[in-house]
Amino acid sequence: MRDDAPNSWESRADASSFYGFTDLPSVHQRGTVVLTHGKGPYIYDVHGRAYLDANSGLWNMVAGFDHPGLIEAAKAQYERFPGYHAFFGRMSDQTVMLSEKLVEVSPFARGRVFYTNSGSEANDTMVKMLWFLGAAEGHPERRKIITRVNSYHGVTAVSASMTGKPYNSLFGLPLPGFIHVGCPHYWRFGQAGETEAEFTQRLARELEATIIKEGPDTIAGFFAEPVMGAGGVIPPSEGYFQAVQPVLKRYGIPLIADEVICGFGRTGNTWGCQTYDFMPDGIISSKNITAGFFPMGAVILGPELADRLQAASEAVEEFPHGFTASGHPVGCAIALKAIDVVMNEGLAENVRALTPKFEAGLAYLAENPNIGEWRGKGLMGALEAVKDKATKTPFPGDLSVSERIANSCTDHGLICRPLGQSIVLCPPFIMTEAQMDEMFEKLGAALKKVFAEVA
Ligand SMILES: *Cc1c(COP(=O)(O)O)cnc(C)c1O
Repeated sequence: MRDDAPNSWESRADASSFYGFTDLPSVHQRGTVVLTHGKGPYIYDVHGRAYLDANSGLWNMVAGFDHPGLIEAAKAQYERFPGYHAFFGRMSDQTVMLSEKLVEVSPFARGRVFYTNSGSEANDTMVKMLWFLGAAEGHPERRKIITRVNSYHGVTAVSASMTGKPYNSLFGLPLPGFIHVGCPHYWRFGQAGETEAEFTQRLARELEATIIKEGPDTIAGFFAEPVMGAGGVIPPSEGYFQAVQPVLKRYGIPLIADEVICGFGRTGNTWGCQTYDFMPDGIISSKNITAGFFPMGAVILGPELADRLQAASEAVEEFPHGFTASGHPVGCAIALKAIDVVMNEGLAENVRALTPKFEAGLAYLAENPNIGEWRGKGLMGALEAVKDKATKTPFPGDLSVSERIANSCTDHGLICRPLGQSIVLCPPFIMTEAQMDEMFEKLGAALKKVFAEVA
């Protein structure tokens, strides 16, 4: 598999590039997959091998890798006005139009948008907005941020502190004041004899107890992904948001929906908060906001937060925050086109149309005695590998079972992602039924092979 010649792409990648979130033993043994181009949902490597990317890049390339309308929108805007910032009272017309569009498609009656280059920066920005509000409104002690165990909110120092993953301790994170409450994964964390509804109520009580213990006046906000993505595709337990939102309201704590993965169609509606029927105070968007054709994040403030932030900024004459490339005209032109493509060119409909087939495929593979659970919503799903299905006992970590499954898939021309003991699928919205069959056949073969080796 790996070409060890010093001038091979694999060796050059290894010698020159530092990998993020990459299993180094795997890459040393197998070599980096160096890519040249894509076509529809397929990507191609330097050896001409094709892979069906069942992860849409990193959840984001929902319109595939060669969408002509998106390429055209980018080209046209590069010719018209290839770059500008959004500071000092200036911004591009595309930026204005995208803000109007984002508010229009948001669940809010009105609101305002602030741009960043990534989801991490959007979460950081929202936290700074809440800190700024606390200081401006006479509550400088309102600084603590509550998120959940297994949540993923990004990698900058603040957003990593929000992320509820054990690897953050390698960086000495979280920073003080970042608090993690229970993960709403009933299958894994429900207690013996506890119904799903009782489990949800327990989490709501735990949240309230945490708020009281920390001091309600010290808490700036609660952030949650409607479906946890990088935690292993974890839909909330039954009634979860209906149970936690009244608790937050009781103490005046804003609920921010981190819609970086769920936003723009992934769960079958434009927003995950619509799928789970709750109204957040603000929304964090990124990833498929541009269908992955440009780096962009956005904070969408609902009416109340928008008004309060406006008043707080007026009082000191500015909101002293922003990134050089925030609201980039090319990114905004692409996002306008991407939203149109997803919402009006049949992609969102295809998500809804394909979901039953997707769920049936996951359920079929979950009949395997070494799959403990399948879970998902819309076109995001996961299969969790277990050594013992009845007791839900995981395989020993050093067997790297999910890594081996994903590697075996790669060998057969399918990209999917290991996350903990789970295999994650989040196909692009343009996927056809035949491509979905190909995806499940290849994954099924990989599961069979790896479980035969380890079970
Ligand atoms: C990916 C992700 C982020 C971070 O976005 P980046 O663009 O990688 O910084 C934040 N929140 C969620 C829910 C994500 O999935």
